[in-house]
Amino acid sequence: MSAELAQHIPPRELAERGASRLTVTGWGRYPRSTAQVWRPEKLSALSAALANASKPVLARGLGRAYGDAAINGGGSLIDLTRLNRMLAFDSQSGVLRCEAGVSFAELLQTFVPRGFFPPVTPGTKFVTLGGALAADIHGKNHHRDSSFSKHVVEFALMGPRGEIKRCSRQENSDLFWATLGGMGLTGVILEIEFKLKRIESAYLECESFALPSIDHVLETFAEHDQRYQFSVAWVDCAAGPRNLGRSIAMFANFAPADRVRRFIGGHPLIVEQRRRLNLPFDLPQFVLNPWTMRSFSALYHLLHRRGERRRIVDLEQFFYPLDRLGNWNRLYGRRGFTQHQCVMPVAEGRDGLIETMEELRRSRIPASLAVLKRFGEQQGMLSFPMPGYTLAMDFAVQTGLAELLNRLDRIVLKRGGRIYLAKDAFAQAELVHQMYPNLAQWRAIKLSADPDRIFSSQLSRRLNLDSGRADACGALPR
Ligand SMILES: Cc1cc2nc3c(=O)[nH]c(=O)nc-3n(C[C@H](O)[C@H](O)[C@H](O)COP(=O)(O)OP(=O)(O)OC[C@H]3O[C@@H](n4cnc5c(N)ncnc54)[C@H](O)[C@@H]3O)c2cc1C
Repeated sequence: MSAELAQHIPPRELAERGASRLTVTGWGRYPRSTAQVWRPEKLSALSAALANASKPVLARGLGRAYGDAAINGGGSLIDLTRLNRMLAFDSQSGVLRCEAGVSFAELLQTFVPRGFFPPVTPGTKFVTLGGALAADIHGKNHHRDSSFSKHVVEFALMGPRGEIKRCSRQENSDLFWATLGGMGLTGVILEIEFKLKRIESAYLECESFALPSIDHVLETFAEHDQRYQFSVAWVDCAAGPRNLGRSIAMFANFAPADRVRRFIGGHPLIVEQRRRLNLPFDLPQFVLNPWTMRSFSALYHLLHRRGERRRIVDLEQFFYPLDRLGNWNRLYGRRGFTQHQCVMPVAEGRDGLIETMEELRRSRIPASLAVLKRFGEQQGMLSFPMPGYTLAMDFAVQTGLAELLNRLDRIVLKRGGRIYLAKDAFAQAELVHQMYPNLAQWRAIKLSADPDRIFSSQLSRRLNLDSGRADACGALPR
């Protein structure tokens, strides 16, 4: 887990029960807080941890949520990564049952050579299935295949007293829908049954376009999205007013096995593993200043303009380019970083995206990486996606950032959109409450499953998700 050992205060009896006190962060390394951390290996140890842990408690996966969704200062975290056994697989239907601590990396290693791929994958393979379910993750195929929840058959959830419930669309369906996207606040997800997709090869046929403005990007999405399973645009946030939203758009489908044999050679389901690099230290903050980010962005743009428009790439390159640099979150220096990811409905998307980018330009706070995607249909209570356009931008934590993010959140709200809780560390409760219209319904189910609010996170307390009090939020976090 991405935890840093802080003052190790092992009260003896705590250590004997298998917990440590650690300072823990999300992937953005902001904010940070200290909690009791338990790492059970068996279900019995998990029940014991839940009974003995100082309250409140929160399940945690690989800590890839950016902000405070997977931290719980003053309470306990139950790290599920040792509960990572695969339990049953039906090769006819592709249905896999496994423990919630299995990561996408482990899934790929086991199932890609057998011709199966997760139905939805995030931009890193270092995410657990429990984390994927709790955030109801989306991928580059949302416009075709919706989010992870669509492919879940059922899961087992441990409640506050250690009781286990099976949840599916038929059984405990309220809890099923409240847990998908429920950010770990309804209980501990233990096992998940979901459907993998068949693939012929581990390679993708990719088509890319350098597009001069946001209008071109949206038109190209509309034209190509039905032909391609995967689509994404990398937006140059530093572009001037005349090319606002200029992007590299990429579209891809898994390549047929015979084409891979012809053009790449070797076994179509095997990808040669590349070495992972690691940053040995935090980069000083000045390295990521507006000038370097602008040149990075422009360079990226230039390289892609010159690159081939059609090519075959392996799935690691296409889905997980950032995973090659193990701890790239250190690029942002010791103060950490955050990601602002929003979605705005189709009808408001164009104007909302332009307003967002103009606000960003005025602020002079640079965004280093912006990713634009189109979302399709979505079910769920607290799930983030809705039919529309989603934009994700990374920012180093710095003076003036909280105020900028608040202005961006207000644009999103005005346009009828919402922000992604799995990335957030700064939003205000009153705005988030208006963005998620099913919050009251979700809260009723959460409180009936967990009346004493044993399950809680720093995110849920900052945003008063389960108490419903928007007023208590007060000042912007610094
Ligand atoms: C580089 C990068 C790219 C990303 N790309 C995408 C993307 O394309 N699409 C997308 O949707 N997300 C994306 N994410 C976000 C990531 O997929 C989610 O934050 C996911 O929840 C992280 O899973 P995790 O195992 O690391 O969980 P953690 O970060 O540890 O926890 C996240 C949430 O899940 C809950 N949780 C975890 N395990 C359990 C469990 N067993 N039971 C109950 N609750 C649990 C936690 O309480 C917490 O609320 C990306 C993140 C990174 C760092």
